[in-house]
Amino acid sequence: MTKVLDVLTGNPLTKAVTKQLGVPQATELRRGRVLPSGDVVLAVLEGAGESSGATREALTTLGITGAEAIRDEPAARTTGEDGRVVPPAYEGKIGALVLDATSVATIGDLEGVRAVLRPALRALGSSGRVIIVGTAPELTEQPEGAAVQQALEGITRSVGKELRKGGTANLVYVSPATTGAALASSLSFLLEGRSAYVSGQPWRVLGAQPGEVPADPTAPFAGKVVVVTGAARGIGAGIAEVFARDGASLVVVDIPAAGEALTKVANNLGGTALQLDITSPDAGQKIAAHVAARHGNDAKIHAIVHNAGITRDKLLVNTDEDRWGSVLEVNLAAELRINEVLLDSSIDGGLAEGGRIVGVASTSGIAGNRGQSNYAASKAGVIGLVRAEAPLLADRGTTVNAVAPGFIETEMTDKIPFATREFARRFNSLSQGGKPVDVAETIAYLAAPDSGAVTGQVIRVCGQSQIGA
Ligand code: NAD
Repeated sequence: MTKVLDVLTGNPLTKAVTKQLGVPQATELRRGRVLPSGDVVLAVLEGAGESSGATREALTTLGITGAEAIRDEPAARTTGEDGRVVPPAYEGKIGALVLDATSVATIGDLEGVRAVLRPALRALGSSGRVIIVGTAPELTEQPEGAAVQQALEGITRSVGKELRKGGTANLVYVSPATTGAALASSLSFLLEGRSAYVSGQPWRVLGAQPGEVPADPTAPFAGKVVVVTGAARGIGAGIAEVFARDGASLVVVDIPAAGEALTKVANNLGGTALQLDITSPDAGQKIAAHVAARHGNDAKIHAIVHNAGITRDKLLVNTDEDRWGSVLEVNLAAELRINEVLLDSSIDGGLAEGGRIVGVASTSGIAGNRGQSNYAASKAGVIGLVRAEAPLLADRGTTVNAVAPGFIETEMTDKIPFATREFARRFNSLSQGGKPVDVAETIAYLAAPDSGAVTGQVIRVCGQSQIGA
């Protein structure tokens, strides 16, 4: 807590120096299950292609309906006498713009995107949201259609960099099959403060089936077993807290040396602790056996979050076999082995059909990092694993996704020397480091029972760090 306040207010010296350098100062972000304070504006563009009805349906499913909550922008769909799109005017601040651009298919159609965004960006309130919904470029029929749908990515990433006061911009690509129900969990996550530290990111929601829609949207994991590895401290403890808040029965896992801290986490959250080195060859069997023993032989795991991770940084020229192997073992090999065991449907305490697997990658796995060839290999490996496993598990309704955190305030990043740390935490569109809760909220969205249409995706939780794509 103190750390985060320190980031926001800065110590006087840091603040003075960063101001002198013209570095933007951080805004306190809207977090949690909180919608933006102004109207959620839906603008549906009528381009040359097929429009998906999923965006409007999803907002209706979320109960964001009615003239006050959704202000349709007819102007965004009409053209003036000279044939140009007439931009709507806003009287006050708005909370979010949801722009359905699924029908954008020609270069000329992109003018509609500009015309809708321009006034909306001016009117966007603090911690406001720009959410663009497009059609996945690879699913379009004409090269021009693919080009302009890809163009939405460039627009989203640029807008994310232009927004101030905690505003974020993200892009969700859908398919013609995507239903409103399948898209709802993604729009809910993006609109709420749960996505506070996710900006400039594109990802895909291509499936038609949402999975299981929870009776109580504030307790989506009620009655469900969720396993979190590396949960004794840092991001893992934050992940466990969010799942407990949302009703999960938790199994928290960490090495025996962290046993005391792990027990505290479990006790505070009403879960159970399993002291286990995840690199042990029978780690998967031990997790399953623990679940069966504590929750009954018929119990299954709803979600496993592979959060445990280590760094052993050195330039590659100084990296010995040990540093190389240990990082790959903990961060990648263990995850692969545990998944194999838990996916065996004959094992008591294994992963449920319709279960969720979430990996924790890193922006280092996307951009690479000096002194981290072993770590970047392992984290890029997690991304590869997620993409390869997702289609293999689609038939059983199991999704596999990952988050890629950027600079998150934990004991791990506390050890970084002051100047490097200050640079890393500010070198992103939100000008601040993220909190463990930001990573946790994104993981909980991916693991939600009604996020069944989201699979094979990697979402960066990095405040749109300038490092990487
Ligand atoms: P941390 O070091 O504070 O916590 C990691 C936890 O994993 C520890 O409790 C540790 O005991 C446990 N662990 C390590 N090896 C284990 C093993 N063999 N078996 C079981 N548990 C084991 O790290 P963190 O900052 O909380 O990071 C959590 C995850 O997020 C890691 O995968 C890390 O690579 C990733 N990540 C962190 C950041 C960041 O900025 N902190 C950025 C990108 C990615």
